[in-house]
Amino acid sequence: MKQLKERILRDGKCFDGGILKVDNFINHQMDPVLMREMAKELVRRFSNHTITKVMTIEASGIAPAIMVGDYLNVPVLFAKKKKPSTMENMLTTEVFSFTKNKSYTVCVSGDYLGPNDKVLFIDDFLANGNAAKGIIELVKQAGATLEGMGFLIEKGFQSGGAELRGKGIHVESLAIIKRLDNCTITLE
Ligand code: 5GP
Repeated sequence: MKQLKERILRDGKCFDGGILKVDNFINHQMDPVLMREMAKELVRRFSNHTITKVMTIEASGIAPAIMVGDYLNVPVLFAKKKKPSTMENMLTTEVFSFTKNKSYTVCVSGDYLGPNDKVLFIDDFLANGNAAKGIIELVKQAGATLEGMGFLIEKGFQSGGAELRGKGIHVESLAIIKRLDNCTITLE
């Protein structure tokens, strides 16, 4: 998506370890106009699917997910990183965090995810696909159907995209980073 690619080249910053920082418009300060355009484009790319629920993981996936849910007019369910003591019918799985370099448990209530749900997962970044794999597991536990996975930014030099597409999942990314070497951002 042209607008996003231009913004990444203008405002994105590279950090050691292959981290791209987009705090100026996605991860800290957010640009709602661009966010809305990105959501519209993701909805267009999944228009041949019937979606009953958008899922994401807190916190950075929530902004794009709620906008996608608004366009699709379906509920948005985010996996929580802390187990609430009051959650009923809890489904859980472990996710390894690329940016924090540790595993954590994510959970959703089975009250909000069940066999009739057709799920579109939305997240800000796709790196090694660990967050995505956690969602695949939760969808499986609930007996729901995964329709697709949409990302704002995919780091094409990490393994997640190939793995998910290799499983036959419909994956869409609005911008794919080819390289982040020497603090230079190269897009596909
Ligand atoms: P994965 O689970 O695919 O390995 O990593 C994706 C998750 O890690 C995303 O939810 C995102 O929050 C975070 N992440 C991975 N790589 C980056 C990055 O380069 N920059 C930022 N800001 N977040 C990242």
